Amino acid sequence: MRYMYYLSLSDYLKRIYGQKVYKISLQSGCSCPNRDGTISRGGCSFCSEGGSGDFAAPLLPVKEQIEIGIKRVEAKLPKVTEHKFIAYFQSYTNTYGDTAKLISLFDEALRDPRVIILSIGTRPDCISDEMISELKKLQDRYDKKVWIELGLQSVHDETAKRINRGYPLSVFDDTYKRLKASGLSVIVHVIIGFPWEDEKDILETIQYLSALTPVLDGIKLQLLHILKGTRLGEEYEREPFHVLTLEEYCSILVKCLKLLPSETVVHRITGDGPKKILIAPLWSGDKKRVLNTINQAIKLASDT
Ligand code: SF4
Repeated sequence: MRYMYYLSLSDYLKRIYGQKVYKISLQSGCSCPNRDGTISRGGCSFCSEGGSGDFAAPLLPVKEQIEIGIKRVEAKLPKVTEHKFIAYFQSYTNTYGDTAKLISLFDEALRDPRVIILSIGTRPDCISDEMISELKKLQDRYDKKVWIELGLQSVHDETAKRINRGYPLSVFDDTYKRLKASGLSVIVHVIIGFPWEDEKDILETIQYLSALTPVLDGIKLQLLHILKGTRLGEEYEREPFHVLTLEEYCSILVKCLKLLPSETVVHRITGDGPKKILIAPLWSGDKKRVLNTINQAIKLASDT
């Protein structure tokens, strides 16, 4: 039997760096134009106040954030090896602000010899050519990869409107081309389970991303979490709608994985919804069961 192939992030990192690499979440202090009134005040309908980074550390100088993040990770690890880290600017829109100031924060992160990758979460409508060129300079100066993570969620403009994303697909396309032309890596976030999207719609998003040229570097596949304090959460509490069962999620996920190019690194196949504010689906809070069931579904989908 051949196990269904997809390139997981941990396999990719081990292949490139020869060891496990850990992620530390950092904050740049940026806001989000979809929250501060520039585009809208409500934010994306699924996004909680934490700006899609509910587990991130409090705002401190980057150097201190790195020390805290590394200490936290290393407290759980054996002290035998020198650990390597991804500095992940996760919450809100981390290229939304003064380019020089932000570049100096990113520089500070890359300067740390334990940090081997810089990952920046942002929106495709908030990355200027100047920012791209400065990030490329950093990537070359330190000879460390710079990843740009774009929260696309779906290629359907109808979905973009319903979730109040605030930009059309054409903006993503343009930014994708500019980022890839510069030599930076792009990781796209996709949400599986919007109640108005069926399996066909979701697979169309994956097909679209799979056909991108140059090939997409990475993808995060994430179950839709309905959270307290979000517009989607309010809608759900007012009038509950169908959320995916674990079995439905696994079935769609396997089809998505099969469509992806073998070079695209799969950074995530589910997602950790912050349990304290999770409304639905409640099964997603049982991480162990979720991962076991997903692994089982992948095994069943393997070629015989
Ligand atoms: S762009 Fe990101 S941070 Fe801003 S509202 Fe949407 S999901 Fe939240």
